[in-house]
Amino acid sequence: MTTTLLPPVIQGMQSLAPNVTMSGVAMDEEVEDLVAFLLEHATHPGILAQHLARALAVASMGPNHLWEDLGLGGREQLNALMQEHFSSLKARNSQNMRWKKFFYRALCERAEVLICKSPHCESCEDKPICFEP
Ligand code: SF4
Repeated sequence: MTTTLLPPVIQGMQSLAPNVTMSGVAMDEEVEDLVAFLLEHATHPGILAQHLARALAVASMGPNHLWEDLGLGGREQLNALMQEHFSSLKARNSQNMRWKKFFYRALCERAEVLICKSPHCESCEDKPICFEP
């Protein structure tokens, strides 16, 4: 199923970062951290997971919804991609946090850096921004 999502994902990545090749150059530290994080959670480790992790990481730097910058048709397709290829993260995101927020929250927690207004999402005034309704 998600194999059919791959061409738009790759296209989305290339339009966002035309100087980035599939082998990965000119990536900043943030992208590399996110690629590494995603690959730790790859359901099917391999070249496809590497391409998808890089596409997700680059698109996460984009200005729009992640699914938009990936060239997907909607959040449901992104959820399906995450379910298929990063299933442990999909399970971990059980509260349906927006994926960009989820990634950065996870990276910040790992680095023990808290950039959020609150240590807990439940008591945070930004909750409507971070989570899908
Ligand atoms: S809801 Fe608040 S605490 Fe949770 S990720 Fe968003 S900003 Fe951070």
